[in-house]
Amino acid sequence: MTPEICDSLSTVLEEAMHEVVQTCINQVPQLHFREIGIVKSVSPGIATITGLAGVGIDEMVRFQNGIFGMIFDIEEEYIGCIILGDSSALSAGSEVERMHRVMDVPVGDGLLGRVLNPLSQPLDAQTTPWFVERRPVEREAPPIMDRLPVTVPLQTGIKVVDALIPIGRGQRQLILGDRQTGKTSIALSAIKNQRDTGVICVYCAIGQRGESVAKAIAELRETNSIAHTIVVVAEAENGPGLQYLAPYVATAIGEYFMESGRDVLVVYDDLGSHARAYRELSLLMRRPPGREAFPGDIFYIHSRLLERATHLRKELGGGSLTALPIVETEAQNISGYIPTNLISITDGQLYLSPHLFQKGLLPAIDVGKSVSRVGGKTQLPAFHAVSADLKLFYSQFEELEMFSRFGTRLDEHTKKVITHGRRIRQCLKQSSSELIPVLDQIMILLALTNGLFDEITEESVYEVEKSLRKAVSEVPTDIVRCILDGKPLSSEDRQGILSIARTALTKCQGTSQAPL
Ligand code: ATP
Ligand code: MG
Repeated sequence: MTPEICDSLSTVLEEAMHEVVQTCINQVPQLHFREIGIVKSVSPGIATITGLAGVGIDEMVRFQNGIFGMIFDIEEEYIGCIILGDSSALSAGSEVERMHRVMDVPVGDGLLGRVLNPLSQPLDAQTTPWFVERRPVEREAPPIMDRLPVTVPLQTGIKVVDALIPIGRGQRQLILGDRQTGKTSIALSAIKNQRDTGVICVYCAIGQRGESVAKAIAELRETNSIAHTIVVVAEAENGPGLQYLAPYVATAIGEYFMESGRDVLVVYDDLGSHARAYRELSLLMRRPPGREAFPGDIFYIHSRLLERATHLRKELGGGSLTALPIVETEAQNISGYIPTNLISITDGQLYLSPHLFQKGLLPAIDVGKSVSRVGGKTQLPAFHAVSADLKLFYSQFEELEMFSRFGTRLDEHTKKVITHGRRIRQCLKQSSSELIPVLDQIMILLALTNGLFDEITEESVYEVEKSLRKAVSEVPTDIVRCILDGKPLSSEDRQGILSIARTALTKCQGTSQAPL
């Protein structure tokens, strides 16, 4: 054989060998490694697992009958897992599969208007919502350098909140009070008032009765506010696992919108139930109980949740996430463990008093015990100018009124203060079905602070208020623009609005014959 023939023969052989090897490789079946563990024990809400070496905290697992779980605790002998479903369907000895991903949730605009459970399964008898991506439910909060100060107001449409305890976009404002004092109503009003503002809302119901959740959803539907809202529900009967997960899921959904440059409002109703669900899980996992049997990290779980509320820098889209956590107090004890924790985590609180509720002074917000630490800076300048001294004046009036009850003789000045204070109180009353736009509020407050209401009886305050609101359409458009653009009002503009208010008041008195 000549060397040329040898060369070409070896090339042909090499190519043939390569082809054979490729064919063999292609014919080897693709191997999927499934990591399987065994359920060691099951208690209501949690399971312990053996096997699954290398699994991490917050990773997802799937039990044999399709129920999901989330890794919660890793011990030397076993792994603790939260069951995200019906734990009675599980038994010891069954298999559990590692899913190689941390607990995540689908997010996207397709979720708007939907009612979902924390596993994003629809509860509104519709198809599975379309989504853009999946996001981990637990995430680190944005660093300080990525945040901007809270400067834009989040109008709730409730006069007493917007004027005296204002909320800004990116703020965390706690709503606390005894049971049945109107906590949910305030949060729902805030959601309803965002209808044409472009603010996306997430209402997260934790540990409530199905009936209360259905009522809240019906209210959102009736007012057509569901279109800009996503409802995440973990009812009391859903077990502690889903209740624990729900607020993190709601926040992850909200973060998607925030990071796409939009403003978001998330309501957590309520974090007291969330704390109790976490206590139940921790005690079942045999974690050491602390004060009121809550585990030591109860403060941490709420602070890492609420830290995610913020206003992002312009380069990051400039979106914001405002958090309205709700917590129930017992017998007006605002120094309870969970309420004080939440008060110290948030930027302010709205305290609802059962006494005010019983007296019919609704919304029952106790102005003296409520505070907004950052909201004042967010008020529109025109609004701030008319409401700045109102809170102080109102608190002074409440004190004076208390003393005047003892029948002491009052001088003319004190009488005037009390008359004016009572008009303020009457003016701050508002039904939960009524939302007042910012211009109407400015008109009413301007009339109030300039003593126009002092000329009428307490009973006719509401009627006069209604006619003032009708007269808002007479305010010149350049003044309206100036207010909405966040410019301060000149004294002439203010006098202009006041004279419109005076005319409306006179007209109202003329028709209703209200005594002067
Ligand atoms: P729970 O402790 O059961 O969660 P809650 O504190 O959330 O109660 P809500 O359910 O909001 O209280 O309100 C209790 C009742 O008070 C409801 O029937 C609601 O309609 C009524 N209510 C609350 N605020 C107002 C208001 N401003 N005007 C009229 N009714 C109101
Ligand atoms: Mg409620």
